[in-house]
Amino acid sequence: MFYHTHMLCLDGHVDSFAILDHLPIALAVVDARSRDVLMLNHKFVELSGYTEAQITNERDWFPLAYPNTRYRERIAQEWSRRANSAWNHQCNVEPLESVVTCADGRVCTIRAHLACHHGMNIITLVDITDQKQLQGQLQEQASTDSLTGLCNRRAFFAGMEQVLALSSRHLRPVSIMLADIDHFKDVNDTFGHQAGDAVLRHVAQLIRKTLRTSDMAARVGGEEFALLLPETGRAGAFRMADRLRLAIAENICIHGNQPLPITISFGLACLEAHHSGDAPSCDEFLRAADSALYASKRAGRNRVSHQDLRIP
Ligand code: GH3
Ligand code: MG
Ligand code: MG
Repeated sequence: MFYHTHMLCLDGHVDSFAILDHLPIALAVVDARSRDVLMLNHKFVELSGYTEAQITNERDWFPLAYPNTRYRERIAQEWSRRANSAWNHQCNVEPLESVVTCADGRVCTIRAHLACHHGMNIITLVDITDQKQLQGQLQEQASTDSLTGLCNRRAFFAGMEQVLALSSRHLRPVSIMLADIDHFKDVNDTFGHQAGDAVLRHVAQLIRKTLRTSDMAARVGGEEFALLLPETGRAGAFRMADRLRLAIAENICIHGNQPLPITISFGLACLEAHHSGDAPSCDEFLRAADSALYASKRAGRNRVSHQDLRIP
């Protein structure tokens, strides 16, 4: 587009900067060598709030747009890397995303594209704040269980992979806890599905209260929860499970004036500190926790069982 208008300019028919001023995209033209600003179009001033009087040279932009010194240094470095590529006529200069402070104090996420043409840097800015916000929301929805607000199964397994890899590398303890509500079908059958949902939310709330910030909790099945406890061996995991079991017994869920007492069974799989060799895989961990959970159910429910993990 610019190439075309510039050609027109060379023909002497049209003032290309006047055309650029009307474009609906924020654009700056900068002398590639001196970094002096040749023009900021109307949309640029509208988006950022900064005028040609404030930004006479590209360097003036940085302290205005990035008031935080460390962030500014990082962005300036990234930008000059791209400016060098553009100068060397690389066509695909990777756009730079940054958080820009506008003149009125608003903070926007901006994607900046750069191309060098006839000794001029053509910089376009696109405001992607809304897009980023939506992306964040979608990401959160994709990893959250909508009923309880805990993580979902997928997020839990992703987190577990990471934590197990770390614990394996640093020979640190880690535990997995599966928790399954006892005779939950009876709650639904007797009091209705909504009452069942209220119980699930109630249990999630108690789990959240019991967790440490480094722990991760998820609803991994209908009435089954999983907790990932980094830096926690068997003794700590037993303490945590028993605290949760007691909290659930002592805090009865009330739904529509109807008390809904429940109990929970737990299955633990734990790895102690200074274990030798590779940590077991996620599958092996979950299988061990699941078989411990099954043992709790068989032994009468409302209890905590543990299964040892064999290290290869
Ligand atoms: P056990 O003690 O052996 O675990 O018995 P249980 O009744 O808890 O287990 P079972 O697997 O027989 O039943 C689980 C029930 O959970 C059946 C299903 O309708 C219910 N359920 C699964 N997901 C949800 C949900 O999102 N909301 C509600 N209200 N119920 C659910
Ligand atoms: Mg159950
Ligand atoms: Mg179950």
